Amino acid sequence: MIKVVTLSSSSKGNSVLIVGEKTNMLIDAGINLKTLIDKLKLLNVEPSSIKAILSTHEHSDHSKSVGSFMRKFPSLLYCHTDGLEAMKQKIGNVSENRIVTFFDQEFSIGEFVIKCFKLPHDSASCVGFIITCAENKVAYATDMGFASEEVINELKNCKLVILESNHDEKMLIANPNYSPQLKSRILSRHGHLSNMASAKVVCSLVGSKVKQVVLAHLSPENNTPELCYQTVCDYLEAMGVIPGVHIKIDVAPKQTLGTVFILK
Ligand SMILES: [Zn+2]
Ligand SMILES: [Zn+2]
Repeated sequence: MIKVVTLSSSSKGNSVLIVGEKTNMLIDAGINLKTLIDKLKLLNVEPSSIKAILSTHEHSDHSKSVGSFMRKFPSLLYCHTDGLEAMKQKIGNVSENRIVTFFDQEFSIGEFVIKCFKLPHDSASCVGFIITCAENKVAYATDMGFASEEVINELKNCKLVILESNHDEKMLIANPNYSPQLKSRILSRHGHLSNMASAKVVCSLVGSKVKQVVLAHLSPENNTPELCYQTVCDYLEAMGVIPGVHIKIDVAPKQTLGTVFILK
């Protein structure tokens, strides 16, 4: 059994709770500590039961409370070797022996087997994760400028895929509050996945093992949940795919708890 719920998902802060029969863990802790603790308690998860925080990359919207959480509770941090130095700068005073590094090998945490895949993003290192428990596989893939064939192939093996759908390109380009430099950073091949790019990835997952996609990491300034959902569904329908029948689509809320998905 894997239970998956997004605690927060946007350019302002990201954290996902993964609950197993015996093991609880987080992917990222990019929201403030009090909010994170409150959300775990709302889900009846004792913060001290979190065995591990899997880090995707060092950006603050993924790392904000990693250090403070680790100073309060006994969890370990799992970090890609290439991102270790950058993460250390972010988390402050945490004993080295509580940081576990991984490269491209699979590793286990309790009943979960975890594999990472590299994502193209403007950080020291950025990874997505495939989390396996018995027959169930879940993928987490946000913060990528584009989705490579290799990444799409990884996602195809999973029942549940949490996928970035960051911005609407027109909204981003028209946003007067964003500098041209920031716009080109987001639109670049090391930036973020747009709604349309995400729609194309979702379409290529149809017919694979993927039953459910959760569109995630929406930009509060350059996207809305309705626009994101509509863009993906319109594209699928134009390609002859019926959303909700051939593949289910959900949107992770920015600040509130997301849908609780249970894979048995
Ligand atoms: Zn991010
Ligand atoms: Zn990032």
